[in-house]
Amino acid sequence: MLLPEHRSKELLAKYGVPIPPGFLARTANDAETGCGKLDASRYVVKSQILAGGRGLAGGVRIVDTPSAVGEEVGRLLGHTLVTEQTGPRGEVVSTVYIETALDIVDSRFMALALDPESGAVMLLASAAGGVEFEQRARMDDSVYDTMLIDSDTPETRKSVTAFLKKAGIDEAAVDIAFAGYAALIENELTLVEINPLAKTRTGDWYAADAKVALDGNALFRHPEFEEFKALQNPDPIEAAAQQNNINLVKLEGNIGVVVNGAGLGLATHDMLTEANGKPANFMDIRTTATSLNIAKGVELLLQDPKVRCILLNIHGGGITLGDTVAEGVSIAYGHSSRKVPLVARMAGQNADRGLAILKEHRLPVEVVGTMSDAIARSVALAG
Ligand code: GDP
Ligand code: MN
Repeated sequence: MLLPEHRSKELLAKYGVPIPPGFLARTANDAETGCGKLDASRYVVKSQILAGGRGLAGGVRIVDTPSAVGEEVGRLLGHTLVTEQTGPRGEVVSTVYIETALDIVDSRFMALALDPESGAVMLLASAAGGVEFEQRARMDDSVYDTMLIDSDTPETRKSVTAFLKKAGIDEAAVDIAFAGYAALIENELTLVEINPLAKTRTGDWYAADAKVALDGNALFRHPEFEEFKALQNPDPIEAAAQQNNINLVKLEGNIGVVVNGAGLGLATHDMLTEANGKPANFMDIRTTATSLNIAKGVELLLQDPKVRCILLNIHGGGITLGDTVAEGVSIAYGHSSRKVPLVARMAGQNADRGLAILKEHRLPVEVVGTMSDAIARSVALAG
């Protein structure tokens, strides 16, 4: 379960993570007058939707005056933001957070994630930060490094210091990593993501953006977060996909779509729509998804009686390899009595192995070489 940015920051600040001063607003007027409380020469206006990618989609604005803050807030409130992470349906902005703008000289990426199986906490860091990190991570997972943290001791602090240094994060930010670690453990969080972790002209580090996810099954032990439950996606199918490292948005059409990467997902969606095809869903397989996760995601599509065919559009790379996806798809078809036709376009790492796996499992698959062939065939099959 995700917390909005302002609440994520409030939580991390309690553990000592520096954040810029800010306030929430639900009207343009409140936003403009509220700026009087901030000692700022520039302001950041931030849409509080439960998805990232806001910067690239125009959901984060930097302006110089309180009246410009009011204008931006007026523009954003009620607006549907479509970002790489919302899927094509987008999310309506109903709350805006206004902050003192930081004078950022360096942007880095830092995250702590709980491995649900082992219970280990993984620290992730990258010298690329902010929107640049988001764009690069989509194509290539090697843009970040990882290490495990199991305690806060002088020894682990030493290895974290060396680890962060490789990502261009100096010693002054080591406390932020351990503050995030403490917050994650004490609140049963599954994710603390700070992107950008920003270094200012004065050499101080701040969480310029923060995203916190908590374990929905542990929510009853943390009633202070109960109010955010209503903001979450209520769709049980979409929630089941989330638990399997897959972003899934149900749509009204009849072509099931299995895609890795949000960018490729949006492109596939647009091409299908242009060819008069009707996608039954938007899907983005996260880089952390295993073949069993993918199997669950594909099963959710096969269970939808509207789905007449499945379009598999995979670009293997980093962790999401062609064969991993093919194994997942094969498991799902093995579990399902509905053998809907499958159109497969696979490129990138282990694409050949992936296609071989689909054939070995005797799936009703038609292999195509290009994305446009894949679109044309699936539109024809969905008829
Ligand atoms: P996201 O795109 O949803 O992850 O939203 P962010 O909160 O990360 O904001 C997007 C981008 O806006 C960041 O990557 C920064 O480049 C920029 N940004 C956000 N806050 C500040 C700030 O205080 N100062 C400056 N200069 N840039 C900021
Ligand atoms: Mn961000």
